[in-house]
Order: sequence, then C-alpha cells, then structure tokens
Amino acid sequence: MRSISILGSTGSIGKQTLDVVKRYPEEFKVLGLTARRDHSNLIKQALEFKPQKVALLDEQSYLEASNQLSGSGIEVLKGEQGINEIASMDGVDTVLTSTVGFSGFIPTISAIEAGKNIALANKETLVVGGDLITKLAESHGVSIIPVDSEHSAIFQCMVGEQEKDISRIILTASGGPFRGYSLDDLKGIGPDQALKHPNWDMGAKITIDSATLMNKGLEAIEAKWLFGLRTEQIEVVVHPQSIIHSMVEFIDGSIKAQMGIPDMRLPIHYALSYPQRIEGDYPRMDFREPFQLDFEPPNLKTFQNLHLAFEAMKKGGNLPCVLNASNEIAVQGFLERKLDFLGIPRVVENCLTKLDHIEKPGLKELLATDQETREVAKDLIN
Ligand code: NDP
Ligand code: MG
Repeated sequence: MRSISILGSTGSIGKQTLDVVKRYPEEFKVLGLTARRDHSNLIKQALEFKPQKVALLDEQSYLEASNQLSGSGIEVLKGEQGINEIASMDGVDTVLTSTVGFSGFIPTISAIEAGKNIALANKETLVVGGDLITKLAESHGVSIIPVDSEHSAIFQCMVGEQEKDISRIILTASGGPFRGYSLDDLKGIGPDQALKHPNWDMGAKITIDSATLMNKGLEAIEAKWLFGLRTEQIEVVVHPQSIIHSMVEFIDGSIKAQMGIPDMRLPIHYALSYPQRIEGDYPRMDFREPFQLDFEPPNLKTFQNLHLAFEAMKKGGNLPCVLNASNEIAVQGFLERKLDFLGIPRVVENCLTKLDHIEKPGLKELLATDQETREVAKDLIN
C-alpha cells in the first residue's frame, strides 16, 4: 500500500490521480489533498477519500471547507503554509505535484526536504530550479518520478539502461490545435480556439502552452534535469496522433519508443506503482484496424516559444525561470484578452533580454527572478 498526497487535487491531473486511486484501493491510499480555491470539489474529494488533512490556498475557500468538514475528523489547513504542511506530512511515501506553474516549486522543496518521493506532474518546478531541485533530491535520497507522458515514456525506455548510453531523446509533440498554421494565420487567434486541444483534456494553462508549443519547450528543460542531458541531446518531433509518447536513441543507434493511447491515467498509474507494474484496466490499443503514425519537424518560425525555450535552456542559470514566469503572466494576459496570441512569445522574448542573467542562482535569486520577471511582464502587457 502506497500512501500519497496530491497537491492540486481539484485539477485535471489531480482528478485523474484520484480516479487511479479509486480503481486500486488496495494499492493506494490518500493522506493529503490541496487546492487553490475550489472548495466544493475538495470537500467532495475529502468526504470520498477520507484523507487526514486537506489545505486550501484561498482564505474564503478555507473557511468554507473548515465549516463543511467540521466533525469529519479531517483537518483543514490554509494558505501556502498549509500546502507545505501537506507536502511534508508524516506517513506519506509519495507526493504527487499537480499544481500549476511556479506554485509547485516551494511545496516540492518542502516534500523533498521531508524525504518524500516526488511524482512530478508540475514540470514548471524543474524549469524554475532544475539544478537546485535535482541536487536536493539527490542529497535527501528521494526519487523524482515523471508523470508527464513524454517523460514517463523516456523513463520507461530507460529501465535497464544507463544515462551515459543515451545519444539523444526525441520528445513527441501533438502540434496542438494550430499545427500547419502560418504566422499570419495565428494573428486573430483568441482563447476559445486555443483552449481546444485535439488529443488531451487538460487545465487551461497547459492547454495554451500546448497551442504555443511552449509546453514542449518546458518539457525539454524538464527532460534535461530528469535525465541529465545536454541541450544538443534533446529533439522535438511533431507526432499528431500522440500514440508514441517519446523516444530514446542510444549510442549504438538503436531507438526505443514507448506507446499507448493518450490517457494520463497510464503515466500516473506507472509513477505511483514504480518500480513495480500493477495491473491496469484502462482502454487498450486496438491493432485490428489499420491506423497511421505520422511525424514532422516543428515549425520554429511560427511557434517561436519553442525556440525561446531552447535558447533559455542553452544559456541556463536563471533564464529558464525568466522564461517560465514571463510565460505564466503572458498566458494569463492572453486568457484575459489583454494580449493577442503572438503577444505571448513577444512578452517572453522581451523578458529574456531585459532580466539580468545569473549563471548560478540559489533559491533566493530564483525567487527574486520570478518576482521581477512577473513585474516586467505585467508592465509589458498593461
Ligand atoms: P489544472 O489547472 O487543471 O489544475 C491545477 C490544480 O492546482 C488545481 O487543483 C488548482 O486548484 C491548483 N492550483 C492552481 N493554482 C494554484 C496555486 N497558485 N497554489 C496552489 N494550488 C494551485 O492543471 P492541470 O492538472 O492540467 O496541470 C497541473 C500540472 O500538471 C501542470 O504543471 C501541468 O503542466 C502538468 N501536466 C498536466 C497534464 C494534463 O494532462 N493536464 C499533462 C502533463 C503535465 P483550484 O482547482 O482550486 O484552482
Ligand atoms: Mg506532456
């Protein structure tokens, strides 16, 4: 029996994780759940899964949940401190991080310092501070197991292999809803069109990141830290069917690929069961009907975010943190209709040139970089 806490249980990954837990009650038990403000879903989840503790970031939502859960025996915590307490609570083996953006960074540090293994969905944590997080995990002897489907694929291809034998990894990208569009075609795009992803049903921020291809850029940086790679070893290929979740090429030229239908419960199930495989009853691939797998190179001229992410990764230091913070603000601006679609890479590029490059940032510098970038990005939008 694995005991887990889920940070961001009311989101897309959080709910799918609870679905996995519900299907396999003999294998997994939930001890802690957190949300930002969706108290009604958090309360429902708490009553069904009976964790020891829950936490809400928002004060009003916390009061609501405290009221409704009084007498249930479930402790309700509030604010960032409450979330950090759930990230580090006794009795938990694995913390699944599925909050969105920078908000996952500090709780992940708390979890690692408390000796918890991390099932990592919140890729932004490794983008912000991959060097710091991976060293911290190493020094505390905890594992970071990827939940992101591409990284789960690479991780599964790596079982029985050694990192030194990787020649390159090939991250697959669906291409998003605007695959094949020209820069001109992207001019009038609004949130309604960008929020429609062809293959995956996800939270708003990652859906926009998938439409701009920033998601693949963030994933490249995530892969660099998870698998100890150099920028030149990371490639992206557009594969619209999202059946091959990613590939690893080894020094002898052989390539391993991991495939399956696009269903995030599979990588979640794997991350929670690793190093075992636990039987799963999810829908399976059907090879009785003919189907095709297509591959094409990404268009870096149209999807400039992907290029910007690789540049930030190459230069390193605090620049991936700048990339992440500026992208978060730009995506929010786009969703609020204050910024057009092509304004997103414009804001990111501007921030990457405006902010000072710190080559070896510590925690203090990363927190300051995040804050400063947000201010600069907001000024650019307003
Ligand atoms: P959602 O927006 O659906 O869910 C986010 C969750 O985090 C919600 O529980 C939300 O609470 C909570 N949350 C949001 N902001 C904060 C904050 N500032 N502090 C604390 N909690 C917060 O996101 P997804 O589930 O789609 O994505 C989560 C992470 O997983 C992202 O990093 C994403 O890149 C990654 N990921 C997602 C995939 C997917 O298929 N969805 C696939 C691979 C990776 P509330 O509901 O109260 O707002
Ligand atoms: Mg992914």
